[in-house]
Amino acid sequence: MLLKDKTAVISGAASKRGIGRATARLFAEHGARVAILDLDAEGAAGAAAELGPGHVGFGCDVADLASCRQAAEQVIAALGRADILINNAGVTQPLKVMDVRPEDWEVVVDVNLTGVLYLSQAFIPHMRSRRQGSIACMSSVSAQRGGGIFGGPHYSAAKAGVLGLAKAMARELGPDGIRVNSVTPGLIQTDITGDKLTPEMKADIIKGIPLNRLGEARDVANIYLFLASDLSAYVTGAVLDVNGGMLIH
Ligand code: NAD
Repeated sequence: MLLKDKTAVISGAASKRGIGRATARLFAEHGARVAILDLDAEGAAGAAAELGPGHVGFGCDVADLASCRQAAEQVIAALGRADILINNAGVTQPLKVMDVRPEDWEVVVDVNLTGVLYLSQAFIPHMRSRRQGSIACMSSVSAQRGGGIFGGPHYSAAKAGVLGLAKAMARELGPDGIRVNSVTPGLIQTDITGDKLTPEMKADIIKGIPLNRLGEARDVANIYLFLASDLSAYVTGAVLDVNGGMLIH
């Protein structure tokens, strides 16, 4: 029970096969009370109900600061406090550089990068007032190796931005007792790729993975658990690869 008596907020945790949902289940198994925030409000409430009593789910658009602030108020009213924030929500698009239109750039950067800033801003005053907190942010191996897996260059750019933002927040918030870290998964089998990832593409990707398989949502949830728990009490500003060796650097 690594999260006994802790409360955890997880964004982008409504989708059934997603990393956020697997993280919510794992955190609940480890004794945390969980708040699920998602653009899909009904899905968020359903996911929380599935976890059992004591967990809550609310609609939240991480790309909208007012929505993040409202969700933070709802979470703190419902759970009393927020010890852990997992900035997990994200979207991707398999586009080539010349095909990225302004509206594609905006949505991918707004959700993946600006969303990390806004949701963190919504919870930092509360964490500061308690002089404790652990924030984990979702980046991607795409940020480190320049894409080439599924997401386009705008996705790589947004996820690379997350690394800089998280490191800067770690430096600034450390003296307030708040740790901030990032995870950089390789290809994880969820529904984010829709039906655009063919079996041939998967087989090709596996050829470049020393551990010889794609990742599972639980593989990333386990790393979020480490970052959320006191096992990582002296870790901040770190980037943890969860990629089966796809990128060793
Ligand atoms: P997913 O599509 O299953 O989950 C994403 C969730 O984010 C969904 O529940 C969706 O409703 C929610 N969401 C989308 N826009 C939102 C918004 N504006 N506000 C709040 N919630 C929003 O996908 P996943 O693969 O579980 O992705 C989770 C995170 O992991 C994403 O940030 C993704 O970029 C990242 N990631 C995924 C992979 C992978 O291979 N699956 C690899 C590296 C990083």
